[in-house]
Amino acid sequence: MSRLVIVSNRIADPRKAAAGGLAVAVKDSLQETGGVWFGWSGKLRDAGNDATHRGDGVQVQTVGGIQLATIDLDPRDYDAYYLGYSNNVLWPVFHYRLDLAQFDRRFADGYRRVNQLFARKLYPLLRPDDIVWVHDYQLIPLAAELRAMGCTNPIGFFLHIPMPPLPIMAAIPEHEWLMRSLFAYDLVGFQTEADLLHFEQYVEAEAGAARLPNGRLRAFGRTLSAGAFPIGINVDEFAALAGDRDGIAMFDRMRDEYSRRQLLVGVDRLDYTKGLPQRVHAFRELLERYPENRSRATLIQIAAPSRENLGAYDDLRREMDSLCGAINGDYGELEWMPMRYIHRTVARKRLPGLYRASRVALVTPLRDGMNLVAKEFLAAQDETDPGVLVLSRFAGAAEQMKEALLVNPYDTQGTAQAIQRALAMPLDERRQRYTALMATIRKYDVHWWRTRFLDALADASEAAVAQP
Ligand code: UDP
Repeated sequence: MSRLVIVSNRIADPRKAAAGGLAVAVKDSLQETGGVWFGWSGKLRDAGNDATHRGDGVQVQTVGGIQLATIDLDPRDYDAYYLGYSNNVLWPVFHYRLDLAQFDRRFADGYRRVNQLFARKLYPLLRPDDIVWVHDYQLIPLAAELRAMGCTNPIGFFLHIPMPPLPIMAAIPEHEWLMRSLFAYDLVGFQTEADLLHFEQYVEAEAGAARLPNGRLRAFGRTLSAGAFPIGINVDEFAALAGDRDGIAMFDRMRDEYSRRQLLVGVDRLDYTKGLPQRVHAFRELLERYPENRSRATLIQIAAPSRENLGAYDDLRREMDSLCGAINGDYGELEWMPMRYIHRTVARKRLPGLYRASRVALVTPLRDGMNLVAKEFLAAQDETDPGVLVLSRFAGAAEQMKEALLVNPYDTQGTAQAIQRALAMPLDERRQRYTALMATIRKYDVHWWRTRFLDALADASEAAVAQP
């Protein structure tokens, strides 16, 4: 069997519980098949210390059947590639936030440099029959750099974040180079059919792409396959977490504390894509318009710190502190506070108990590739008395999860109405919706995602040999 080589910006130690959708899914894939996980160590080289360039500079360790291969980055490269291009260009633009993008030629240069470095360090580690699977927006040009060095292995790419429509994508000064780079892959995968459509519309309109009889797209002198592969969770593992010691302890504590109340929960990284201020506005509207929820409904909002060295995140943090302070000051009573806002990461193993004790989950991003919290919330529910998912129509998960209460997070009144409906939903309806949603997340779980992608990559690389 061919060896699987996964490449992502960061790698996570398989012995530790990972936070973040990508880390959780990749770890799960490698644990089943074994293989190599290549990425940045998260460490910076001392300025002037050229060790990585003199030796091969790759640190390799084997953990639980998985080989972890990492490289350190030069501080200047880190600034341009990671803080600059990845976090201040690709992340905002791919989430439709042109207003937050900082276009700077030096960022693009650093991004290219680090992708070249990844290719130079990775290529000597590859065996001829390895299958290479590259993850996410930090590494779009990696296959093109590997191909330039002579690599002929099958290489697939999965974009974990949304693919924006053409007029937004075209605002990136290097958009043509980025899209051309994608054609060095044999297969490019997206989270949703909508993302796939944006990609196809771009290459048809901007690069005159032609659709071949076998479904592949031809542009820039190469062909590729493209598809939608919505990422899933490990449903059994998550349900088991709900039943283990930590899960039960958390559930018991929450149930005792909130036995006379209705608990709502939100779990997100503190990120401007997650719609957190809009969510607090909607919750405030709920208390205003439906006063029966006062003294009764409590929203626990976890906002895990993320990318704290960027200005946009400071602003968001201040805004959230002020909105949550105001809602508690305006509506709180001695024995009840409407909001508990926690700006800390909560260990993943404690989340299922919290989800299970909650009547409603608020998953209301302004734009999100998929959103795994939506799926995890369901997997943790008690099937005899399940909670209700209020889900943004702008999360990738909404394409699959039609039985959730879908909302437009920009519409404060509409979202408040949906939250009220969720809180009042009779048991029969909750069970019906839960059963339908569970069938979907069980069918399209993380194993399905990995197998479908890798099968499609095998087909695509055969087709590429026949017609490069
Ligand atoms: N998560 C966690 N602790 C936290 C917040 C989030 O373990 O305090 C986990 C969460 O359970 C989920 C992942 O991080 O598995 C977040 O993935 P999602 O797709 O929802 O969003 P992303 O962070 O990838 O944008």
